[in-house]
Amino acid sequence: MRKIAILGSTGSIGRQTLDECARHPERFRVTALTAHRSRDLLFEQVRRFRPSLACLTGAPVGEIPEDLRFCTFYAPDRLADLAADCDADDLMVAVVGIAGLRATLAGRKAGKRILLANKETLVAGGALVMRECAVDGPAPTLLPVDSEHSAIWQCLQAAGPNRLKTILLTASGGPFRSWDKAAIAQATSAQALRHPTWSMGSKITVDSASMFNKALEIIEAKWLFGVTPQQIQVLVHPQSVVHSMIVFQDGAVLAQLGVPDMRVPILYAMTYPERVESGVPAPDFPSLASLTFEAPDPDRFPALGLAYQALEAGGAACAVLNGANEVAAQAFLQDRIRMGDVYRTVAGTLERVGSLPADTLDQVLEADRLARATAEELLHRRTT
Ligand code: NAD
Ligand code: MG
Repeated sequence: MRKIAILGSTGSIGRQTLDECARHPERFRVTALTAHRSRDLLFEQVRRFRPSLACLTGAPVGEIPEDLRFCTFYAPDRLADLAADCDADDLMVAVVGIAGLRATLAGRKAGKRILLANKETLVAGGALVMRECAVDGPAPTLLPVDSEHSAIWQCLQAAGPNRLKTILLTASGGPFRSWDKAAIAQATSAQALRHPTWSMGSKITVDSASMFNKALEIIEAKWLFGVTPQQIQVLVHPQSVVHSMIVFQDGAVLAQLGVPDMRVPILYAMTYPERVESGVPAPDFPSLASLTFEAPDPDRFPALGLAYQALEAGGAACAVLNGANEVAAQAFLQDRIRMGDVYRTVAGTLERVGSLPADTLDQVLEADRLARATAEELLHRRTT
């Protein structure tokens, strides 16, 4: 029986994690849950899974219903304390945004194994996180949940002692894959939220449309697998069946395949190294008409280039890219800007903020704060 705490339990990843806990009650006991604003759903989850600790991070929780008094509710600003204090073997980090960074570090320092869905944590604070965690070895302390990174991690397990030469990071291409540049620039949030293959939270769905999701994932892969940026190539694969691949010196390629359903990588992190029933079938190959691959178009999707640029710049550049993108994605979701402004805001922020150090948590959080203020200022100019 493993004890699991879930940060962001009311979101897309959080709810699917709880589904898998419910599927295997003999394996998992839920000991802590958090949500940002979905108070009623959090209460419902506490009622059903009976954790001893919970936290509503985005607002005061107010009156706790009589029948939930067995659970201690932490104050909104105590997400990282909860990550450290909870009685858990595993910490599923499924909050969205940089809010995951401090909690991940606190949870790891308190001895929890980290199941990491939250990519912004690695993008902003990769060096800090990898100082505390190991992805390889007999007892990894950081297990990737993002589907592409789970795929690469699974391929590496099959690689034995052989080192990879390159990573082929697949991307669906999102809803604007075949749109021309002018149409993408004018696209709205309603159009971006129609993702062709994955059903996810709103921020990552917008990131998938702008391709900033793949930009974040390039940076995530660099930290998780200790490769150079040049070893990571993005490959557009609209069917989202090949979740990523690794290439060896001899030209052989290993891929991990599956239907696009996050329950598989979520559950694999939860049961690693075992594989158990997830509720997801294997792909029905005869019914897959074709699996296709194409190179990404840097002109229509310039976000990818920014990821390489930020990695090259080093220091806090990736934290700045992430902070500016969080602000721009939010403004886009609120229909304050169009799709083309997202890239302009992030690129403009990177240019203006310049180089900053990222050796300590305070420095990373300061770079994030500066990036957000700069991005807001650029957006304000654009929209007034
Ligand atoms: P979501 O928006 O559906 O859920 C986010 C969760 O975090 C909710 O429980 C919400 O209450 C909580 N939350 C929101 N803002 C918060 C804040 N400031 N502080 C603390 N908690 C906060 O998001 P999601 O789609 O489940 O994605 C979660 C993370 O996993 C993201 O980093 C995303 O990039 C990553 N991810 C998601 C998917 C997917 O299929 N949804 C796939 C790969 C990676
Ligand atoms: Mg992904």
